[in-house]
Amino acid sequence: MGHSTEDWVKHGQELRRPLLVHPSISEGKISVIIGGGLSGMTVGYQIAKKNPERDVVILERGGRLGGVIETWSRDDWLCDVAVSSARPHPAFWRLVDELELGESFFQSRIEAKQRWLFIDGEYVKLGWRVIFRIGVINLLRSMIKSRKGGLPVSNLIPDKSIADGITLGIVNRYSDDVDADFLFPSMTKFGEGPSLGYRRLARKIRGTYPLFTPRKGAFGSFDDGMEVLIDKLGEKLNQMPNVSVQLHTEYDSLSDISEVFGVSIESIIWSSPGILQKQKSSEVAVFVVGYRESNTTKIPVGYGTLFPQPDIVISGILHESDVHVGRRAPPGHRLFRVMVPVSSWSGDEQEIMNCLKEIFVSADPVIFEKIGHCSIPSYEPGYMRRISETKLDFSITGWGGSGVSIVHVVDEAERISEMF
Ligand SMILES: Cc1cc2nc3c(=O)[nH]c(=O)nc-3n(C[C@H](O)[C@H](O)[C@H](O)COP(=O)(O)OP(=O)(O)OC[C@H]3O[C@@H](n4cnc5c(N)ncnc54)[C@H](O)[C@@H]3O)c2cc1C
Repeated sequence: MGHSTEDWVKHGQELRRPLLVHPSISEGKISVIIGGGLSGMTVGYQIAKKNPERDVVILERGGRLGGVIETWSRDDWLCDVAVSSARPHPAFWRLVDELELGESFFQSRIEAKQRWLFIDGEYVKLGWRVIFRIGVINLLRSMIKSRKGGLPVSNLIPDKSIADGITLGIVNRYSDDVDADFLFPSMTKFGEGPSLGYRRLARKIRGTYPLFTPRKGAFGSFDDGMEVLIDKLGEKLNQMPNVSVQLHTEYDSLSDISEVFGVSIESIIWSSPGILQKQKSSEVAVFVVGYRESNTTKIPVGYGTLFPQPDIVISGILHESDVHVGRRAPPGHRLFRVMVPVSSWSGDEQEIMNCLKEIFVSADPVIFEKIGHCSIPSYEPGYMRRISETKLDFSITGWGGSGVSIVHVVDEAERISEMF
């Protein structure tokens, strides 16, 4: 506890989040990591880089590294199945720089920053209009109340449609079922706060970005999709003499791992969601839909729209070809990514098409395809408080506990390597 100003400038508000680390994590000469998603890969990379004398073993049950990160492409169409961009944080920029990926990493297009919420048949711009709709005093009051901790996002954002839109967009769940501390710890003031004022800290952090300092509200993404990051990280891990990656490998228990690798259970790092507090998950189906530009003139250029209505099967439409600098659609076309919570969908793709025709573009698309199906961990109210109080027999990393986005995962890996 008691982080220095230097720590706050390096990690920012991430320091509010607990590190789910056993005190004996750096014991012995081998670190065994379970799970080869972005978390297992970055934790492995950071530990191995800092400790060339230590062996790092990454065990992945699937046939590839990257976990949910995957990029789909067909002819001139390209789309990320899950993660498409990273919100600004120097830890992510540092990783991109170190991996020498700076030349293919760009901030999102300035003209595509607008987001909308579809409420009562109307597109409402996310921004000041939404704050006025909630009421500034109302919002401040609920922010103060939510500082007692353990409350759902619907208590923090006292407008159900807006709160639902936001949580559906981030974690595929309605706001009554999502922990406000886990999603918005700086708003609920969870954990230890920074030793310097918010604006001063933000200014200092802005001065530390390698490559380029992102514009306010911008995101970072890769020319050819997020899989570029996984490929490069995988290549680096391959080149490190002290790292070994074992695919198609799953052990029945931590004691088996401890025995096979000759390590203590306390030093094992579990980098996959689901293990903490019997964490549940929900499913989202991911579609792409592409149109001729001439058929989408009514759809303004922007980031995307959230649909917080149970009678609409789609929860979000992201304007992929508007947002990213890298090519996402053939010339004269636009590509959109469509998120569909599986719990409210019949499984019939025609239902999605009908919905798109009704609420989005009435013309026939040039391409319409399901590109993936992902599990998203659930963070029920009180989750952050419970995990921060949990006594661990080993260490846990990744989006099951670190925070939802890749920025949390990447910063957490840096923080953990500092303990070695
Ligand atoms: C649809 C969607 C969109 C998203 N969009 C964004 C975005 O735009 N920006 C953003 O910042 N974040 C986004 N995220 C969140 C982001 O994907 C996660 O923060 C990040 O990828 C989590 O990485 P991870 O390694 O913690 O977990 P995972 O990617 O889930 O990886 C866990 C790995 O562990 C393996 N594993 C599990 N159990 C075992 C076992 N017993 N033994 C061995 N291996 C095991 C799995 O096979 C998997 O490879 C999105 C997520 C989804 C689903």
